[in-house]
Amino acid sequence: MSRKRKKKADELRRVMEEDGEAIGDTTRLATQLTEARLAMTPDYEELRDEARAVKENAIERLPELIEETKSAVGENGGTVYVADDAEDANDYIREVAREEDAESVVKSKSMTTEEIEINDALAEDGVDAWETDLGEYVIQVAGDKPSHLIGPAMHLSAEDIAEIFNRELDTDEELPANPIELTAFARDRVGEKIKNADIGMTGANFVVAESGSIALVTNEGNARKTAVTPDTHIAVAGIEKIVPSVGDLDPFVELIAKTGTGQNITSYVSLLTPPVDTPTVDFEKDELGEEGGEGRDFHLVLLDNGRMEMRDDPDLRETLYCIRCGACANTCANFQSVGGHAFGGETYTGGIGTGWEAGIHGLDSAGEFNDLCTGCSRCVENCPVKIDIPWINTVVRDRVNREGDGNFDFLVDGLSPDAEDGADLQKRFFGNVERFAKLGAVFPRTSNFLADTRPFKAVLSRFFGVDTRRDLPEFSKDTFVGWFDRRTGDEGDETVVVYPDLYTNYFSPERGKATVLLLESLGYEVVISQPRESGRAPLSQGMVETSRKRAEKVADDLLGHIEEGRDIVVIEPSDLAMFRDDYEKLISDEDYETLSESTYEISEYVENVTDEEDFEDIEADTDVLYHSHCQQRSLDLEAQTVSLLETAGYDVTTTDAECCGMAGSFGYKSEYYEISVDVGEQMMEGVNVDLEDVTVTASGTSCADQFEYLTGSESEIPHPVELLAERLRERS
Ligand code: SF4
Repeated sequence: MSRKRKKKADELRRVMEEDGEAIGDTTRLATQLTEARLAMTPDYEELRDEARAVKENAIERLPELIEETKSAVGENGGTVYVADDAEDANDYIREVAREEDAESVVKSKSMTTEEIEINDALAEDGVDAWETDLGEYVIQVAGDKPSHLIGPAMHLSAEDIAEIFNRELDTDEELPANPIELTAFARDRVGEKIKNADIGMTGANFVVAESGSIALVTNEGNARKTAVTPDTHIAVAGIEKIVPSVGDLDPFVELIAKTGTGQNITSYVSLLTPPVDTPTVDFEKDELGEEGGEGRDFHLVLLDNGRMEMRDDPDLRETLYCIRCGACANTCANFQSVGGHAFGGETYTGGIGTGWEAGIHGLDSAGEFNDLCTGCSRCVENCPVKIDIPWINTVVRDRVNREGDGNFDFLVDGLSPDAEDGADLQKRFFGNVERFAKLGAVFPRTSNFLADTRPFKAVLSRFFGVDTRRDLPEFSKDTFVGWFDRRTGDEGDETVVVYPDLYTNYFSPERGKATVLLLESLGYEVVISQPRESGRAPLSQGMVETSRKRAEKVADDLLGHIEEGRDIVVIEPSDLAMFRDDYEKLISDEDYETLSESTYEISEYVENVTDEEDFEDIEADTDVLYHSHCQQRSLDLEAQTVSLLETAGYDVTTTDAECCGMAGSFGYKSEYYEISVDVGEQMMEGVNVDLEDVTVTASGTSCADQFEYLTGSESEIPHPVELLAERLRERS
């Protein structure tokens, strides 16, 4: 393993050991609560559509809304400052602090103030800045970094927090690891800070242009206290937080709680129109000021810091719709293993963190953790504003690749006919896996023998970062296409096209054969399309141009079949996800629509055309454990496979993990091997059947590989279609 990859692997292992357990427990619980809450929200999709429309409109009208906000806040008696960047924002805030002779500032939770690092800037002037959010307070006392967008101390247990408080703070007596006592202790300390502060600084979940109001959505009351206890209030918000009107807040107030924490609504939803008219308060004299809030001062700092450029960037623009609920991080299997200390950049964490970091801090910061997104797409359905997070990660990966030096390109020139400059050898290897598979399939026995030898594994590890602990998939002696071409198929009333994906063709032809036999047994005549890689492999490496070229060729071939009235049946879920989702970004709108409407996953297709009669007379006594594929779940197709297996007489138990951890090439990469295994082991822990008593089946090739690896199985894990074909064979 190269030194760079080893360093990355060591760092991931360290974070996994330190943070993994607490992060995993909390994020998994949050995801369960969110899913339960969303199941009780029949209008979830309408709310998402509404929220998305508000954000699209607000970002489109942003320059005009900034001006409207300035006018409204000015009319209310406050001041708006639009800061170009972090330094500009900090200079303005420091100037306000100087004018106020401020010695201390209290802050409510705000990622935007983390982004500009205001605490450090104020410290340069001798001004103390104190966090009042419990999690942020813990992090500040510990001298640590937040590990999650909404749960900054998520990586710490009650024991850790007690140890930090006892070590760092002057406590009268040793604090126990009791969350209630720790919270009460922190509340008292924070309360004192708020009483003595000269300035209160908040963020803003939303800024309302028409009224100059700010909305604060929290589960602690400290934001309210911070905003109104000191005479001077500074709110710092990214310009993307502006919405046109109070009515536009409606969907967000519901969604942010449901997707973020699984609550129906957060404990506090505050709509303030500062400067507020609550009387000022002098705690030393125990006096209230005049009615009407005389003596109050309000500054709204609207931060650009790269956001206007993101607005003009068609691929990063969507990032500005993010309401920072954290659901994408909670639902991400890799994030569940390492948390934001590894899956995050200078400020922002999780799947959407890549978009924020790329736009705000630049590609170096985004590139540090971008590869941890495997594009599994499980985050998308929990995103309240429907952001295509995997696509943002792919585009950023592409940009990071292009910054590379391509030093060792000569090693793969000719073998990897990709369109990108700069992508490293590992990405070029996995992105061009079709080319390597074609070469290996010429002499499958020799290739399989070589792939198992230590010198060959060492070469793959040294140059392409393939982990030596993994075995590459074995080439089949015969390809699926070779088998198909030699046989005489059945004639049928209707012709259906099977797409021979790369893995079915070279490594697992049995599932292709089962697909053909199953379709023929249902009366279809089967043809196959050109055996071309769909573009999934390069796309997953961030090689967008290469993927686009492949997508155009595959689409061209498949559209020819569709023109002749044929449906396309796909076996590998990740390829179906290409045709149904990713091709929208890669081929023309018209071609995408036609193709996405005519492609079907094999189980989905068969389930639509079969009933129990097709499987009658079958003795049904087999239990199966079925693992659906992450992208298959995102396409809402798990249920069809389960239903079909049940129709065929199988008693089905399913896994419930978001992802098996293999995620195509991810689990083969030496720097990610351990996190891949950790995710896989989490999945296995959730399996509540004895593997000795069941037949395991998986839809995705890499999921099957992961199962075989984790269980040490010598035999191949079958695709569900193989079980179905077996049942039909038993009947005949
Ligand atoms: S991208 Fe979506 S799910 Fe992730 S934090 Fe933003 S709003 Fe929430």
